[in-house]
Amino acid sequence: MVEYKSLLIIGAGVHGMTLAISYIEQGGKLDDLLIVDPNSAPLSNWTRQTDSISMSHLRSTRVHHVSSNPYALKQFASRHAYRSNHFKDTFGRPSLELFNNHALTLWDELRLDECFLGNERVMAVRKEGQGFHVQTDRRLIVADSVIVAIGQSATVVLPEWTTERCQHVFTKDREGESNHVTVIGGGITALHYVVKRVNQGHRVTLVTRRPLEVSQFDADREFMGPKGLDQFNRLQQDWTTKRSFVTRERKPGSAPNDLVLKVKRLIQTDAVTHQIGEVERHQDILMVNGERLDDSEIVLCTGIRPQPVKETFLQPLIEQLDLPLTPCGTPVLNNRLEWTDGLYLTGAYADLIIGPFARAVYGGQEAARRILPRLLFAQKSV
Ligand SMILES: Cc1cc2nc3c(=O)[nH]c(=O)nc-3n(C[C@H](O)[C@H](O)[C@H](O)COP(=O)(O)OP(=O)(O)OC[C@H]3O[C@@H](n4cnc5c(N)ncnc54)[C@H](O)[C@@H]3O)c2cc1C
Repeated sequence: MVEYKSLLIIGAGVHGMTLAISYIEQGGKLDDLLIVDPNSAPLSNWTRQTDSISMSHLRSTRVHHVSSNPYALKQFASRHAYRSNHFKDTFGRPSLELFNNHALTLWDELRLDECFLGNERVMAVRKEGQGFHVQTDRRLIVADSVIVAIGQSATVVLPEWTTERCQHVFTKDREGESNHVTVIGGGITALHYVVKRVNQGHRVTLVTRRPLEVSQFDADREFMGPKGLDQFNRLQQDWTTKRSFVTRERKPGSAPNDLVLKVKRLIQTDAVTHQIGEVERHQDILMVNGERLDDSEIVLCTGIRPQPVKETFLQPLIEQLDLPLTPCGTPVLNNRLEWTDGLYLTGAYADLIIGPFARAVYGGQEAARRILPRLLFAQKSV
C-alpha cells in the first residue's frame, strides 16, 4: 500500500493536533494532509497522562490551546456556555475538560478524522528524490514535507535507586492500589497525584527533595515572547550554552500556587505526611533521612523524557543525509524548525530554537507559526 501526500504529520498529540488544525485553519487542504499515530484517537497520550493524575485545570493560560486563533478557546467556552469555574485565576487557566472538548470539537469540525491514520506507527524515514519515504508498520507514505511531533512521552524517568516495588505514575497498573501510598516527586504531577489519592481516602506520604516550590508556569512567562528570549536568541548557534539556558530556566519540581497551597493544607491537617530529603537505596530498601520508606505502594512522579533523536525512526535519515546534531544530541534546526528541506521537528527537539516552553502547549502553537506560513506558500506556488 502506498499513500502520496503533500504533508505528513507524525504524532497526533497536543502538538500534532495543533499543527494539523492550524494547517487547515490557514488554508491547507484536507486532501493534502495525513496524520499518523499508534493510538486509535488523537490526544491519547495527553488524556492518559492527565487522567492518571486527575488534573482538573491546565498550568498554561487560555490563549494556549490547539488553534492558531489565540481567542479560539475563550470563544468556544462562550459559545458553549461554560461556567466561570472552567477558567482558573488571573491567567484564565482552562479546565482540562474545556481544553479537551475544544480540541476534539475543532478536530471534528475540520474533519481531520478523514486524514488520520490511527493504530499505525512510523518505523523509518528516508529521502527519495524531492520527498520522503515514510515506512509505517502498515504502509509506505510518500510525502513532500514531514512534521515530526512525537512528544517526550517515550521514556519515563526512573531514578537509579528504583526498586521492583516502585511504579511510575504514567505506566503504573491501576489495580492493586494500597491504602497507604508513598509518592516521590515534587512537581505538578506529584502534587496532583497526592490530591487524587487523598480524595480516594488513602493515606499518603509525599517525598520531595526540597520544600514545595511555587512557580506559576514551567518557566518564566517572559520566555514566551521575543523580548524575553532576546538573550537566548543572541546565543545563536552556541548550542551548549543554549542547552544550559533551557535546563536552568525550566522549573521541574515546581507547581502553581493554588496546587501547592492545597497540598500544604493536606500536610497541615495530617492527611499527607511530607518528608524532605534524598531517597537512598540499601539493597532493596528505600530510605529517606535514615528512615525506611513504607513500600506497600511506591509511585514515582519523576518525569518523562524525549527519546534521543538518534534512537528514533529518523536514524536512517540522519545517516543518509548526515543531518547535523548539537553536542548534546539535539537536531540542529533553523528558525523555521527545519532540519533539512521539508523536514520539521517540534517539542523537545526544537527547544534550542523555541526556548524553555518548546515542550508545552505554547510550543505547538509556536511551531505552527514558524513552520506553516512558508510551507503553505510553497504548496500554493506549485
Ligand atoms: C501530566 C502533564 C500535564 C501537562 N500540563 C501542561 C499544561 O497544563 N500546559 C502546558 O503547556 N503543557 C503541559 N504539559 C506539557 C505538554 O504540553 C504535554 O506533555 C503535551 O502532551 C505535549 O504534546 P506532544 O504532542 O508534544 O506530545 P504527546 O502528547 O506525547 O504526543 C506525541 C504523539 O506522538 C505519537 N508518536 C510517538 N511515536 C510515534 C511514531 N513512531 N509514529 C507515529 N506517532 C508516534 C504518540 O503516540 C503521541 O500520540 C503537561 C504534561 C504532562 C505530562
